[in-house]
Amino acid sequence: MHPVGLNGIICVPLQTGSMTNRAKPPKPPPPPPVKLPVKQCEVTGCGRPHYAQGHCQSHHRQMLTTGELKPIRPYRPRSEGTRKFVGLRLSPATVEALQALAAEEGISRGAAIARVLEEWNVRRKRKPKKPRR
Ligand SMILES: [Zn+2]
Repeated sequence: MHPVGLNGIICVPLQTGSMTNRAKPPKPPPPPPVKLPVKQCEVTGCGRPHYAQGHCQSHHRQMLTTGELKPIRPYRPRSEGTRKFVGLRLSPATVEALQALAAEEGISRGAAIARVLEEWNVRRKRKPKKPRR
């Protein structure tokens, strides 16, 4: 039974706290991001995403440094289960050796570095550990 005020209006106590303490209903998930069509490099057959002045980052760099556009080596397919890792600073002798390996094998410098490191890691795993003195 609700208390009735002097003028006949039913007085209902205001709910305090219970509304604010209640857990909020879960928010609906945000709408998926709108994907804009990706502008591509203007160089025929390049297919890389646009970076500046109509070109991808590689062709833009080519224009800045050489003033002419040449085809770029296609993207090397990413090997499954690999991760990108730091930029490297190497001695000139190591750079020369890696460039020679890349030329010999007909692979990119990055692929040559990856090969050397992967081979090193395989050898490292096989080698029994030396006892520490
Ligand atoms: Zn390009």
